[in-house]
Amino acid sequence: MNKIALSAKDLIKVYQKSKGTYNSTLALNKLNLDVIQGEIFGLLGPNGAGKTTFINILAGLTVKTSGKVNVWGFDLDDNPRQVRASLGIVPQEVNLDAFFSPKKLLELQAGLYGVKKADRITDVILNMVSLNKQADSYARSLSGGMKRRLLIAKAMVHQPPILILDEPTAGVDVELRKNLFSNIRELNKLGVTIILTTHQLNEAELMCDRIAIINKGNLVALDTTEKLLQRIESKKIKFKVKNLNDFENIKMKGVKFLKGDSSVTAVYDKNKFKFDEIIKIVKENAEIIDISTDDGDLEDIFVELTNN
Ligand code: ADP
Repeated sequence: MNKIALSAKDLIKVYQKSKGTYNSTLALNKLNLDVIQGEIFGLLGPNGAGKTTFINILAGLTVKTSGKVNVWGFDLDDNPRQVRASLGIVPQEVNLDAFFSPKKLLELQAGLYGVKKADRITDVILNMVSLNKQADSYARSLSGGMKRRLLIAKAMVHQPPILILDEPTAGVDVELRKNLFSNIRELNKLGVTIILTTHQLNEAELMCDRIAIINKGNLVALDTTEKLLQRIESKKIKFKVKNLNDFENIKMKGVKFLKGDSSVTAVYDKNKFKFDEIIKIVKENAEIIDISTDDGDLEDIFVELTNN
């Protein structure tokens, strides 16, 4: 039996209209989801989907309108302190005191959480996020990626079973991103349940065991990453062409042709159409220089579900 790490039941958040806004906003519309212990769970959605609202409710920064939230067996209404103790939340923005060392920062944070000196595992945490060598350097001298890892370390001082990362790679370059991902995976292997919000599909595809897609406060999909990817039926063929006579002549019922800069792309359902029929029609109207195909990725589902 899978054990539930975190669940939301009929969770609703309405932001009431205020001075600057004309209408109230339904930010979460009866959100229902379960996160299973030990998994890496992706919370995916475009801007305004309600991701931050959800995390802020978990963090106790935003008050829900109605519905139930349970974290590690604790009900948010009945045991808000235990809920907080069960979560480590890594914020989006890097807000570190520049003049403290990683070690000092973690000690201070542990103090804030009431972790007794004897129970602190500062060195272990620094090791987990590969910052042991920088333990005593000023935080301001750390690279962007190191600062991110320090934020993760900060969220871990009270050894929460669940770690939530809000857009962990915003502003992080490709190399550091890989590094960060391997750190997150290591933590997950140690048994930490990971919840990751992102609007980067490739990131979710790469990292997550299961993915929830939300849009305008509604849950539009929740499945294993594998099953979500299997849903993709459309395939793309991109033709690099020369001497394109008349694009209008390239048509076929049920196939969408898109015109680009010296290219034509066909989008079609791979179960219904044949590769050679599509090539034939393009060939009749242009000189084909190159062909590339694309079996689709999470982005196709995402676009379909969120209509962006
Ligand atoms: P995301 O993190 O997925 O981008 P948010 O949770 O920030 O989405 O926002 C969800 C919706 O709630 C948006 O329409 C946003 O404008 C609105 N919203 C977020 N915070 C507030 C707030 N403090 N007051 C009023 N509306 C808000």
